[in-house]
Amino acid sequence: VTMDETLALVESYMAAPRLHQIATVNPEFVMAAQTDDEFRRVLEAADLCLPDGVGLLYAARRYGRRLPERVPGSELVYRLAERAAERGWPLFLLGAAPGVAEAAAAILTARYPGLRVAGCYAGTPAVAENEALVARINASGAALLYVAYGAPQQDKWIARNRDALTTVRVAIGVGGSLDFVTGRA
Ligand code: UDP
Repeated sequence: VTMDETLALVESYMAAPRLHQIATVNPEFVMAAQTDDEFRRVLEAADLCLPDGVGLLYAARRYGRRLPERVPGSELVYRLAERAAERGWPLFLLGAAPGVAEAAAAILTARYPGLRVAGCYAGTPAVAENEALVARINASGAALLYVAYGAPQQDKWIARNRDALTTVRVAIGVGGSLDFVTGRA
């Protein structure tokens, strides 16, 4: 899919009452999934795996399949925030170092007036913290969730919690994107 097709798919996901998982796949994901069975299953079960890295386009072509374009997570975080502001989807930012999600939220709300930030929380992907994070996100009423724990933890985290997250319709592993938004990386 193209970036525009991705946005259209997200619109349809928002209308279906369950969590949809999006992964932003780069060559490191593909290599890791060769040996990490859990990660491979998570990617295979995801609703949408986007080609984040140009290496995916080259590899696909080599195997006789053309992917239309890169759909980088670092760009998607802006495009989806813009769409969320237009549609009123509350956005929750989970992960990154303490304070980064809050700073990213401030930048995104300044850029996209009307954006509703349901919550920001660094937390950790540790299993012990799982229940508390899910409770916090459910209480926020978030429809769109960015998870910035890096791969594969972020993607496993989403897959593990897809049934427990009752209000989230679209969850996406965004890697270091919040660090890019805030200029930290
Ligand atoms: N991160 C985190 N908690 C962790 C591990 C990572 O919040 O236990 C965050 C880290 O601060 C960074 C992001 O996850 O914002 C991972 O970024 P990285 O660039 O490593 O991920 P990639 O984009 O390569 O998947």
